[in-house]
Amino acid sequence: MPQIIVDGQAHTVADGLSLVQALHSIGIELPTLCHDERLKPTAVCRLCLVRVKGSAHAVPACATPITDGLELEARAPDLEEARRGSLRLLAWRYPPDAVAAFPDKPFHNAIQERGLVEELRGASNPELVDRSHPYIAVDMTRCIDCHRCVRICEDLQGQFVWHTLGRGMDTRIRPDGPTLRDSSCVSCGACVDTCPTGALEDTSVLALGTPTNWTRTTCPYCGTGCEMSVGTRDGRIVAVKAVMDAPVSKGHLCVKGRYAFEFVRADDRITTPMIRTDGNWRLVTWEEALQFSAERLQQLIARHGADCIGVLGSARATNEENYLTQKFTRVVLRTNNVDCCARVCHTPSSTALKSIVGAGFSTNSFDDIEAAATILVCGANPTENHPIVGARIKQAARRGAALIVVDPRAIELASSADCHLAIRPGTNIPLFNAMAHTILAEGLCDRDFVGARVAEFDEFARFIDAWTPRRAARLCGVAADEIRRAARLYATGRPAMMFHGLGMTEHVQGTEGVMVLVNLALLTGNFGKPGTGVNPLRGQNNVQGAAHMGCEPKLLPGSISIDAGRTGFEKLWQQQIPQAHGLHQLEMMDAAQAGRLKGLWTIGYDLFLSNPNAAETARALGALELVVVQDLFMTETARGFGSVFLPACSSFEKDGTFMNAERRIQRVRKMLEPAGDSRPDWEIISGLARAMDRHDGFQFNGPEAIWNEIRAGCEGARGMTYARLDRAGLQWPCPSEDHPGTPILHRDAFPVGRARLQTIDYAASPEQTGTEYPFLLTTGRSLYQFNAGTMSGRTLNSELRPADLLDIAPADAARLNLQDGQVVRLVSRFGSTTLPVHIDCAIRTGQLFATFHTAKSFLNRVTGPHRDGVVGTPEY
Ligand code: SF4
Repeated sequence: MPQIIVDGQAHTVADGLSLVQALHSIGIELPTLCHDERLKPTAVCRLCLVRVKGSAHAVPACATPITDGLELEARAPDLEEARRGSLRLLAWRYPPDAVAAFPDKPFHNAIQERGLVEELRGASNPELVDRSHPYIAVDMTRCIDCHRCVRICEDLQGQFVWHTLGRGMDTRIRPDGPTLRDSSCVSCGACVDTCPTGALEDTSVLALGTPTNWTRTTCPYCGTGCEMSVGTRDGRIVAVKAVMDAPVSKGHLCVKGRYAFEFVRADDRITTPMIRTDGNWRLVTWEEALQFSAERLQQLIARHGADCIGVLGSARATNEENYLTQKFTRVVLRTNNVDCCARVCHTPSSTALKSIVGAGFSTNSFDDIEAAATILVCGANPTENHPIVGARIKQAARRGAALIVVDPRAIELASSADCHLAIRPGTNIPLFNAMAHTILAEGLCDRDFVGARVAEFDEFARFIDAWTPRRAARLCGVAADEIRRAARLYATGRPAMMFHGLGMTEHVQGTEGVMVLVNLALLTGNFGKPGTGVNPLRGQNNVQGAAHMGCEPKLLPGSISIDAGRTGFEKLWQQQIPQAHGLHQLEMMDAAQAGRLKGLWTIGYDLFLSNPNAAETARALGALELVVVQDLFMTETARGFGSVFLPACSSFEKDGTFMNAERRIQRVRKMLEPAGDSRPDWEIISGLARAMDRHDGFQFNGPEAIWNEIRAGCEGARGMTYARLDRAGLQWPCPSEDHPGTPILHRDAFPVGRARLQTIDYAASPEQTGTEYPFLLTTGRSLYQFNAGTMSGRTLNSELRPADLLDIAPADAARLNLQDGQVVRLVSRFGSTTLPVHIDCAIRTGQLFATFHTAKSFLNRVTGPHRDGVVGTPEY
């Protein structure tokens, strides 16, 4: 640790600090109006000037590196006088009422501490006020031209919203549209966070006041797992800020994490248990609701056996709650019929990875984005669905990493890509086989790696010989030369990292599609090193955790097979685990229609709105005798089929942990009391166990006690105490309390020994276009909404994205004489719906893309019944 001498006093400061941070750490606060630790220093405000021994002039601390023995003056009178002079130049046109209203802004602090309030001479100018945006209030009367908003938008988000217009005294910073709402702003709030005056401010803070308490927790939306600081006042969330030392987001959030929190207080939140009798819901006590559920479950089991019940855990619930869900299913209900929404997203990824390399996880970490020379993104749209990952990939490409995008649409990342392969949907296997062909044909594989760690190379080489780029090009609808170019980029630009999403998995060959992707990483040695690996972008905040905690019919906590984990967990639980195979979620629907499944308990999962082929789902749910819904709102599942409603808490109202897409376990912390009579899921599950006379094994005094039981059962969690998870979390596996966690898997070996290359041929989906159904529809999410819209749909995000849209190519729209916004009827072989069209150059002729966030459009009325042949994931 370096030693520095400041104003004659010696100090030892921590390694890796900037001089501004080091001075702060020893109690010297220099004003820094243009400085933000997330940005390169520009040193234009000149307020942090210090005098370094040996230097003829004062220098800005923000741009001065620390060296051991550095000696400087920070508070000399002439330096302080220079600061006052700089502040005076800003004060004359600054409105004094802003300082009075928000005294804690950095600029306001600097003015007040130096007694310059009297010199504020400005007045608010309505022409510089823009209140068009639902979340961000703009008052450029308070702009001091520090340009932090301009730079953070470019350098952190990779967006270019803010521009400097005019010269000299008339210089003004403005968005790139007539208003902020009509600009290219993606509402991440980074400009608000960095603004030192409040020229940019959260509308919620203006309306409700500055937070009085801040609580660090993990975002409840996507699987990126950004940590955030939630500001509350009078028992209400009024703001969310990024956490500067968060390992994934590094001081950044997207619009959902940053702003979409008001669903917690939505008027239609259900906070009292309910039972439905003769079609009508009535409010009941918790005791009555739990007793009703317990008795109905027991009656069904007595009549039809334990396997007549299915349970669905929740990607919205914590690890602790999902662990209890599967434990309850296995030891109280006595069935393995337990699953979660991983079934409809990344079970193909975990199955493919587990079968080939021995662990069904992302192999690397998001920090590897900055280490990768090449990034391959396939079937994923990170700038909309995992926006912090998307922003990091965009920045990596700006810094020179090669980017390959495989997606039928020209998604935002395609504009930064060196190579965009707009393949026909569902043709991933021909494409990646042909890339493997090129890698072998051109001698680009990593012979050492293959020789040491890969099996069945010769057989694979013989198989792949037939998969020429020319053959794949016909199937994929892209040029053979482009396939070769992508293969060369990926194979030669090492280290090369892959991210994939549901465009890989939600196909009839989803699992096999991931397998051929893994082939590419094996052939090129892109495993076990920084900047490499195969990395599924998990969708929901805790979908990785829900499945990993055992909400999976074939797996116990820790993703261990029932056969392998039976002895250990039976000992831990003092109970037998059922022998019969469990049903996965789609099989439960089949069993319901066949009359074999009679009851379903669904936790935080709007099955009816989310499952494909809604007519079939309705028939299945309608055939059940009992549907227990545990959620925050009256979901479509509850509205259509619910028998009893158990009101749960949001993640802001409870403690626990989530597991993100890079295997990081992070803390979830309570900052609000549960709304009304709602309860955390773990308390509801424990209460139902007691109502079924099962007290042993469900008597926990809080989530930490449940987590400690998970640690006792899972070697990979053993070293993760709550104390160690306190800041930044730890990455699975972490087998002992002195283990640092595992950012990169398979460094020296695969758990399976040699990884087998997979020889997989292409089988087209049964769902093909023709004269009667000429368009191929794919579905996905938008930046502003999330899945079934249960949470984001109850926030002002709905002003920014009010409806599901059907994207159509300009040529198709012209041919059908459609206008932007025109509502059309969309008909498939399986059903129909109506939604407005959005004419979009990003989509190819003959294809359509639609989001599925609202019950109004209910897009799954048109999606079909086809499923992945290995794990049953639907083809959305
Ligand atoms: Fe939340 Fe995902 Fe956005 Fe991060 S990227 S703030 S985890 S929704």
